[in-house]
Amino acid sequence: MLDFAMPPLCLACSKPVGSPGSLCVQCWQGLDFISPPYCQRLGTPFEADLGEGLISLKAIAEPPVFGRARAVARFDGTARELVHRLKYSDRLDLAGAMGSWMVRAGAEVLIEGSVLVPIPLYRTRLWRRRFNQSGELAKVIGRAKVLEVDHQALRKVKATPSQTGLNARQRKENLAGAFKVRDEAQGRIAGRRVVLVDDVMTTGATLNAAARVLLRAGASEVDAMVFALVAERV
Ligand SMILES: [Zn+2]
Repeated sequence: MLDFAMPPLCLACSKPVGSPGSLCVQCWQGLDFISPPYCQRLGTPFEADLGEGLISLKAIAEPPVFGRARAVARFDGTARELVHRLKYSDRLDLAGAMGSWMVRAGAEVLIEGSVLVPIPLYRTRLWRRRFNQSGELAKVIGRAKVLEVDHQALRKVKATPSQTGLNARQRKENLAGAFKVRDEAQGRIAGRRVVLVDDVMTTGATLNAAARVLLRAGASEVDAMVFALVAERV
């Protein structure tokens, strides 16, 4: 009934659009898709095409704990709005569209035999928000790529204050010891190729902290798939 009563609305700005689960022209143009060339480790785009297989200076200076990260878009404009709506506005319907873009952008890391592990929330935050946005994105990706999703592998054991306004070093300290691989998950993770799933990568501190405990638990490889990443224009 609702479908007949209401025109489909743009996922990011709620203006009427032609088909459900889509963006209006303006918001589509405001989605800063990441395409090659990008850093093979961090997935951050290069402005100039200097050849294939390049690694950014940032990844050389501070190699990430995870192997490779891939993202759909830069975290600005429409991408920022979508992330915000998914997280704070009870807009679980957004996960479908965002997850399907992640499937397309993540072909290199979303490979057969991988297990998807969403970045968990601390329990009080989960109660307040009622769902974990990373878990919802992982479900969509898992269905599309026929990959197992392990929602229980990681536990956030430390309530970390908001990362907003913290620099890279502070974020790293904030996240130290924040994640644990659950005892009962150790056997499932050992020897497995893991892809961490999160909505945004800022400095990579969260993904590094999670990758560290998964590798310690015996994961053979840990890559990361995010919807958006913060990247300077270089
Ligand atoms: Zn729009």
